[in-house]
Amino acid sequence: MTVNTTVTVRVPAKVNLQLAVGPRREDGFHDLVNVFHAVSLFDEVTVREALSRRPSPSEGTGSAAGPVLAELTAGGSLGSHLSRVPLDASNLAARAVTLLAEGTGRGTPVAVHLDKHIPVAGGMAGGSADAAATLLACDRLWGCGLSEEELVGYAADLGSDVPFALLGDTAVGLGRGEILRPMPSPGRFRWVFALSAQGLSTASVFGEYDRIRPDAPEPRLDRALADALASGDPVALGAALTNDLQEAALSLLPELERTLKTGGGAGALGSLVSGSGPTCAFLVGGGGEAESVVAEREAAVVEALEGSGLCEQVVVADGDVPGAMIV
Ligand code: ATP
Repeated sequence: MTVNTTVTVRVPAKVNLQLAVGPRREDGFHDLVNVFHAVSLFDEVTVREALSRRPSPSEGTGSAAGPVLAELTAGGSLGSHLSRVPLDASNLAARAVTLLAEGTGRGTPVAVHLDKHIPVAGGMAGGSADAAATLLACDRLWGCGLSEEELVGYAADLGSDVPFALLGDTAVGLGRGEILRPMPSPGRFRWVFALSAQGLSTASVFGEYDRIRPDAPEPRLDRALADALASGDPVALGAALTNDLQEAALSLLPELERTLKTGGGAGALGSLVSGSGPTCAFLVGGGGEAESVVAEREAAVVEALEGSGLCEQVVVADGDVPGAMIV
């Protein structure tokens, strides 16, 4: 029998095609209708057996990391974003290691490396993606043999966006986002993402939403969006993209309005702030369209965004794609 001493998992970012947010509940959460769409912008998480625990310098002496996490490091292509990744016990990947070790009783010391390409605090669920990938990698490394349902249960304990990162494709999240129903969509779509140099904290965007929308209605799945996905029509999909948090994100970072207008003016079929922002997403085609048509629109949107000086980085990705996968 082959024993794995290193496991690498590739995990996608998400964009929300619809994010409908209800009023703040008594417990502080909001009911959501959250249409998740996994895109080909990936983090890679590598978990390897470690002989003994060696705290990383950034942990400091007050780290609450358990004995199972020997080392946590991060690298990748994210420029200024990387410095915002915490390398202590608050990292969602570290929390995933601890939770699975406690839950299964099988944890042995591991070193975790995050190769990050998903923007940090960018509204694309990068931290949740890393948590999902870490659960899958540790399950394999420790030989826990958990079912998909069991892994999704651990994922839901870590955060409402984590289960989707395991499953991928396109799905609607209900409740706090953790109850997932697949939304099969035959089309594959091309996206351009404008990454901001800044981050936006999800909590502050929800706080702003509560301030400007105290009368928010109960969230409902948008029929036009569901129909556009089912038909694979990129023009209908572009017209149906909505995000209730967009107004709050624009209120906190007004320059995002210019970013959205730049991509829209260059021919994107639809544009919106991704999740709690500040990443802006532009649909540039797909479905049954000819590749040359999509490529032309993509080039125009990329050129306009890069020339605008409004974003730190512009990346292109396709959706949907499957969730976390061992490579
Ligand atoms: P979401 O879309 O789920 O609201 P997000 O994409 O806006 O999340 P993340 O990249 O997940 O934001 O990061 C949010 C915060 O979480 C970061 O500012 C950082 O302090 C913290 N964090 C914890 N673990 C990670 C991780 N593995 N990668 C990135 N950030 C992390």
